[in-house]
Amino acid sequence: MKILVAVKRVVDYNVKVRVKSDQTGVETANLKMSMNPFDEIALEEAVRLKEKGLATEVIAVSCGVAQCQETLRTAMAIGADRAILVETSTELEPLGVAKILKALVDKEQPSLIILGKQAIDDDCNQTGQMLAALIGCAQATFASKVELMPAQVKVTREVDGGLETLSLTLPAVITTDLRLNEPRFVTLPNIMKAKKKQLDTLTPESLGVDVTPRIKMLKVCDPPTRSAGVKVADVAALMDKLKNEAKVIQ
Ligand code: AMP
Repeated sequence: MKILVAVKRVVDYNVKVRVKSDQTGVETANLKMSMNPFDEIALEEAVRLKEKGLATEVIAVSCGVAQCQETLRTAMAIGADRAILVETSTELEPLGVAKILKALVDKEQPSLIILGKQAIDDDCNQTGQMLAALIGCAQATFASKVELMPAQVKVTREVDGGLETLSLTLPAVITTDLRLNEPRFVTLPNIMKAKKKQLDTLTPESLGVDVTPRIKMLKVCDPPTRSAGVKVADVAALMDKLKNEAKVIQ
């Protein structure tokens, strides 16, 4: 059983991004880039399923610029068996990525496709859902537990007020939530081993996929700065302000 995992290269979650002065986006030059945290969880889950003997091969896929190779080498150091880079300099939208992944699913025929629930740069939370629709297969988003069986997968999801358990027929798409697992640390010997693993490079064109953007970004701007708070002398003054200035109590 093959598992395909989508891993996106994003600005590291510890970096505080700055909006470009012309409001066309955020500064990404010279910033630390890392694997999207939800994708690390997706990969960890796939590797654990392989270690349990439930899967035979884990393939990591990244779509984007040539530097995504670094993310894919990290994926192979975590435990992916091989990797595919779909290289393009076009700014990809979730639909473009979903179409690329669909083409790879047709080619590789995985039983399970695991993605992060969202990329921390665009916060779209769309790619997994779009991919499942394009394949026409079952999907379980925001997974917090995954139990793989030969022809089906049981997924527990955190929903408002409790847990929902779904049983999906394979092939299926799963997107990962934060509590699914805790990804392992990458060790130096595994980084060295990953250098020798297979990394194929394709292009959207070679897969017959049109990734022309359909959305035009109008502008990106900082949130309004908060005005400074005021100190009140006592509870009576606070009540007076809440009642007469903020008008939030009667
Ligand atoms: P999004 O819908 O953009 O929030 O992304 C959800 C998930 O789709 C991510 O966590 C990744 O697993 C996958 N994904 C999105 N963009 C890419 C990309 N360029 N390359 C690989 N995987 C991606």
